Amino acid sequence: MKPTRRFLMQFGAAAAGLAPASRLAASAPDRRLGYAIVGLGGYADVILPRFAECTHSRVAALVSGSPEKARRYAERYGVPQSGLYDYRTFDRIRDNPDVDIVYVILPNGLHHEYTLRAAAAGKHVLCEKPMANTAAEAEAMIAACRAADRKLMIGYRCHFEAANREAMRIVRAGEIGRPRVVTAEHGFNIGDPAQWRLDRALAGGGSLMDIGIYSLQAARYLTGEEPTQVVAMESTDRSDPRFKTVEDTINFQLRFPSGAVANCVSSYGSHHNRYRVVGTEGWIDAEPGTAYSGNRLRRLKDWRAEDHPVPEAPQNQFSAQLDHLSQCVMTGAEPIVAGEEGLRDMRIIEAIYRSAREERAVSL
Ligand code: NAD
Repeated sequence: MKPTRRFLMQFGAAAAGLAPASRLAASAPDRRLGYAIVGLGGYADVILPRFAECTHSRVAALVSGSPEKARRYAERYGVPQSGLYDYRTFDRIRDNPDVDIVYVILPNGLHHEYTLRAAAAGKHVLCEKPMANTAAEAEAMIAACRAADRKLMIGYRCHFEAANREAMRIVRAGEIGRPRVVTAEHGFNIGDPAQWRLDRALAGGGSLMDIGIYSLQAARYLTGEEPTQVVAMESTDRSDPRFKTVEDTINFQLRFPSGAVANCVSSYGSHHNRYRVVGTEGWIDAEPGTAYSGNRLRRLKDWRAEDHPVPEAPQNQFSAQLDHLSQCVMTGAEPIVAGEEGLRDMRIIEAIYRSAREERAVSL
């Protein structure tokens, strides 16, 4: 099977994204770009230790609403006092030459504001998923970074994770024939009703914005196609104190131009983390599929299910993601998951919500 244009874009760009490491090693062996981490919450705790395994990225600044927490983290990660900011003083980051990239790890509803402020401060941006609360915000973020001539990348870590990359390679290389059906399930049973994830203003929506987006991403990056139509069904118990303003379960189907379809689960009520792609000549699946570590692949071989080894990767997904953006900034290359990739998801997410609301198929 001939590789598709998107396969070449993705893997050509990804390979190019990794290849500069060796070119950079010759030209700038010790060059590490400085990141400012905005928001010191749960996911920042996952990211911060990963700078130790980076070759082109380091922590240069921290932005937190709590001076005590900022000081504690500064000590742990070797950030000088001059690199500590709160949300009011954030814009002064423009005067800090140690900061090249701002990494926005705030609630979704704040991504738009901090990306615009970072671009206005002349900094490149890595912004967590989902990119924003709405497609209109995502468009404004892309425009602001473009006007400031700064890079914008979205924190789609799975594009840098070895098992997911191997699954993409297998499907896109035609090793399971033509993809016909993708199943992708992501969810967890969410707790505390008072958290921002359950507040529409800060989260933009419910499970789809937070975790169902992994099902959407998997369907898109595994097939390498863009959906032309969506059908969705929501199921939310509005008497549950967790779901006053956002949805619990919203399952959706995507139709792709090749005729392949995806059946996707998004849930805040049950635990799911897996995907499967069934093609004309076999299948591949992953469970867990998009976890922080330990993702496992199986595939059909000689009509039997077998474990499929995940290739050794030089870096974990988090460090690879951080270094990829640093390399793009240094070489001028475009990130493999730029702002436009986040915007595509936002547009599809809005179509999924519309389909569920209006109880009809929505064309894209
Ligand atoms: P969190 O609640 O653990 O942390 C959020 C941080 O933002 C906290 O430090 C909080 O103090 C700060 N904050 C600033 N202003 C706030 C406000 N008005 N309301 C609430 N908090 C405020 O959340 P998290 O799990 O770290 O998620 C942050 C972002 O990272 C989200 O966009 C989420 O989708 C994303 N995320 C991505 C992954 C991934 O695997 N890529 C994993 C987890 C979270």
